[in-house]
Amino acid sequence: MTTELTFLGTGGGRYAAIYQTRSTGGLVLETEGKRMHIDPGPGALTNMSRIGMDPARTDAVIISHCHPDHYSDAEVLIEGMCKGGVSKRGELVGSMSVMKGFEGLGPRLTDYHFRMVSKHTCVSAGDVLEVCGIRTDVISSLHSDRTAVGFRFRTPDGVISYVCDTHRNDRVIKECEGSRVLILPITRPTKARIQCHLCTEDAIGFAQAVRPELILFTHMGVRMIQDGPGAEATYIENATGVRTVAAEDLMTVRITDTIDISKVRTL
Ligand SMILES: [Zn+2]
Ligand SMILES: [Zn+2]
Repeated sequence: MTTELTFLGTGGGRYAAIYQTRSTGGLVLETEGKRMHIDPGPGALTNMSRIGMDPARTDAVIISHCHPDHYSDAEVLIEGMCKGGVSKRGELVGSMSVMKGFEGLGPRLTDYHFRMVSKHTCVSAGDVLEVCGIRTDVISSLHSDRTAVGFRFRTPDGVISYVCDTHRNDRVIKECEGSRVLILPITRPTKARIQCHLCTEDAIGFAQAVRPELILFTHMGVRMIQDGPGAEATYIENATGVRTVAAEDLMTVRITDTIDISKVRTL
């Protein structure tokens, strides 16, 4: 058994997406021979092409909320998953805003895409569903898209939680309990905290309550990238004793009995 994460992009927020300070292509989770792509924002398809990852081998597209840094490459990726739109296959999972529209956001996915795939599910916090046969808990978020959700995947190699853009919130932390790997959207360094997003210091609460084997920072904004995310991650590791790594574009994380990190995925 192996579960693998590939970061197609570790940038996040408006300006990192606009200027592609880092790619904003989201994350691929591979487990049990299935490939799930979470939040395919700008740069997802470009980076898949760079590492020879075929969109036709994607089995699920999962979108946490309706902001472009999380969904902009989704439509083309879905066409890829469905082999140019001719093969009805794959799963789509998205927040209410993405799937149906909410408070002026979305919908981003329409009947056109729903007809293409084998299964499509609109999810809210508290739902439990199977995605590619993996039991998945839909977790909360406190974000400007009020229907935003995170995901807690119960893989054979342990629970991997993907926290969505959120303001620091005890309920979100509680819902991540039991995670072996915790992926956090640390958009800002502590000194530049903004509403609706996590900053470095917020990771301390997650680390102390969840005690995962590994915390991965992603969705980093321009300020965070310029300040040096590596040092921010080291600060959390030193403060909590929890292994903490700032992910990099095309980084892979292999989860078996151990957790091994490779800097850049190669063909
Ligand atoms: Zn975002
Ligand atoms: Zn957002």
